[in-house]
Amino acid sequence: MANGQPALIVEDVHKRFGDLEVLKGIDVTANQGDVISMLGSSGSGKSTFLRCINLLETPEQGRVVVGGEEIRMGLDRRGRPIAADSKQVDRIRSKLGFVFQSFNLWTHMTVLQNVIEGPVQVLGKSKPEAIETAKEVLNKVGLSDKLDYYPAHLSGGQQQRAAIARALAMEPEVMLFDEPTSALDPELVGEVLRVMRQLAEEGRTMIVVTHEMGFAREVSNKVIFLHQGRVEEEGAPGQMFTEPKTERFRQFLSSHL
Ligand code: ADP
Ligand code: MG
Repeated sequence: MANGQPALIVEDVHKRFGDLEVLKGIDVTANQGDVISMLGSSGSGKSTFLRCINLLETPEQGRVVVGGEEIRMGLDRRGRPIAADSKQVDRIRSKLGFVFQSFNLWTHMTVLQNVIEGPVQVLGKSKPEAIETAKEVLNKVGLSDKLDYYPAHLSGGQQQRAAIARALAMEPEVMLFDEPTSALDPELVGEVLRVMRQLAEEGRTMIVVTHEMGFAREVSNKVIFLHQGRVEEEGAPGQMFTEPKTERFRQFLSSHL
């Protein structure tokens, strides 16, 4: 599992939307092999945090380092966040695999086409090479028999597993998941969590925003609880779930367990 070297460093990230300060200085370090579950009530800033790492949002302040690529955020003279250089943004994003709540597969492409698109277009792989990798990752998520299906003909659980395969095919250093099972019918949640558990056991570095307390407790080695844009409590799941230190996390647990 975790073996020490930082795969992702996020330091002092601040993000506001107008008058609303959504992230008030967040620090998170994911070492290689860490599986970090990020918990928090709706509106606490979890998605915004992931979007800042991926540079889908431009923070006003902070630093992100992933796979040796560093971005420092700041303001221009008029107090507006400075957008990062687009090449740098591409390099950062290519090191991150993002899995959204709503699958976001390309609906006009088959499963196989979805998975080879990034490796061919972004990584510059040859098509045969991309197909070989795609078959491996689709096998890993249990979709070997669905290569030629269009997303509309798959269940939500299958679509989300295809989305995970698509992210894996880019060989990311860190996988970011934003409530990957929240849009699924309850009977389909388990198949997606099993794939995620398998990735964790293979030693992949993952940050998972989730409301699945079982996953947070059993699979992750670190839990971060966000409250109103701050890390309110963090630690090992064994300790946090049995002896929460803050009243807010205690309350959160009592309403989610
Ligand atoms: P969570 O994922 O924890 O539910 P979010 O990060 O989505 O929380 O949102 C945190 C807060 O930021 C919420 O109050 C939300 O309304 C606000 N917010 C998020 N994105 C935007 C945006 N693009 N413009 C304005 N407000 C936003
Ligand atoms: Mg969210």
